[in-house]
Amino acid sequence: MSTPKPQGKAVIFSAPSGAGKTTIVHHLLQSDLKLAFSISATSRPPRPVERDGKDYYYLTPEMFKLRIDRGDFLEWEEVYQDQFYGTLHSEVERIWSEGHHVIFDVDVVGGLNIKKHFGDQALAVFVKAPSIDALRHRLEGRSTETPEKIEKRMAKATQEMGFAEHFDHVLINDDLPTALEEARKVVTEFLNA
Ligand code: ADP
Ligand code: 5GP
Repeated sequence: MSTPKPQGKAVIFSAPSGAGKTTIVHHLLQSDLKLAFSISATSRPPRPVERDGKDYYYLTPEMFKLRIDRGDFLEWEEVYQDQFYGTLHSEVERIWSEGHHVIFDVDVVGGLNIKKHFGDQALAVFVKAPSIDALRHRLEGRSTETPEKIEKRMAKATQEMGFAEHFDHVLINDDLPTALEEARKVVTEFLNA
């Protein structure tokens, strides 16, 4: 009989693009909660500040599809046309075997799929900007997307907002320090439960 693999908990942060989930996840990673970031795989090209193996594992669309066929993904999605994103089983196993809980920064549908996979072992948090206007303002302010891509993300955001009620917790990210404190509180309570 083989020894069971070590398991930790899973914390999922999902939101429409620009709501602030990456900012919140980075803050939690710097705390003492023993969390490690699940590095997703993607077929989109790296942004100038991004590094392979740190922000994402960058795969060609062909390699991404090959790994889908091999069953390497816990979940995957074509988030935007020809832009695949997914969570590798091997990534979660790596993090748990190193004695950490895993934290995910994924889109809304991906977040719900991960929650379905882990059930009570996972906490799923939906991050909301205070308004659609604030969301647009943040996306524009981040200066990482072309105007055309911002429009695509805004259209998707409106649709994603409808999924908020399926999450364990909805966090309004208006004043950032307040949102960071609330995030820390709900995650701490879940990990200590
Ligand atoms: P996401 O990961 O959800 O796409 P980011 O964390 O990248 O969002 O945040 C989008 C932009 O909004 C970033 O430039 C970030 O610095 C900014 N931002 C995050 N939270 C707030 C907030 N509470 N108030 C104002 N700007 C914020
Ligand atoms: P970005 O291109 O801005 O890094 O990410 C685009 C979207 O893809 C974001 O909403 C991000 O959360 C989502 N995403 C990142 N990794 C994954 C993943 O592993 N699975 C899914 N389903 N979505 C992801």
